[in-house]
Amino acid sequence: MNQIELNKRQETIVQIVKDNGPITGEQIAERLNLTRATLRPDLAILTMAGFLDARPRVGYFYTGKSGTQLLSENLLKIQVKDYQSIPVVVHENVSVYDAICTMFLEDVGTLFVVDRASHLVGVLSRKDLLRASIGKQELTTLPVNIIMTRMPNITVCEKDDLLVDVGLKLIEKQIDAVPIIRETTEGLEVVGRLTKTNITKAFVELASNENGP
Ligand code: ADP
Repeated sequence: MNQIELNKRQETIVQIVKDNGPITGEQIAERLNLTRATLRPDLAILTMAGFLDARPRVGYFYTGKSGTQLLSENLLKIQVKDYQSIPVVVHENVSVYDAICTMFLEDVGTLFVVDRASHLVGVLSRKDLLRASIGKQELTTLPVNIIMTRMPNITVCEKDDLLVDVGLKLIEKQIDAVPIIRETTEGLEVVGRLTKTNITKAFVELASNENGP
């Protein structure tokens, strides 16, 4: 019910009531240089929508939304593109040794693997590389496409997806990151990276900014 968009005048009324309530319709009208009759529809909407409450002989007062309500409203506005990172990709034929170097140099925990046409074919996590390293294989000649998690088993997202939905995917699949992709007729283009760190950042910012992003 509180999802309605307020117009400028309605927002002003809410602000007046917030600052001065309880306040009568007459007094609100006076502050806006309008008549009580002009304001009647706005006050009716604001009361019905739950922004304001009215008591006879007392006037209007601000009910406010609960902090949790505001928080979840703001949370549901955040999209992947608001918090995405740059993807770090390696070619499917590079060696595990080179992928480990890339992971250190680029300071990321997940690498995305692409084919010659730059389309997504796999994912490499820290543990994938560790697992390969404790075997007897020669890391400088072992290509990453032997050890990577491959398509079609890759969890992806798009930049317009909601951040909370991606958070859910990370939890359900027990993974740390997903590639942000753009679907083309030839394959999946990697356009970004969304990790637990991005979500932590959004969480912290949301806590320090009541009005959201
Ligand atoms: P780590 O293995 O370092 O704990 P993750 O939890 O991200 O890191 O990875 C767990 C496993 O899931 C790895 O084998 C990895 O290849 C795979 N994985 C990671 N990200 C994805 C993804 N987006 N889609 C599918 N599999 C993934």
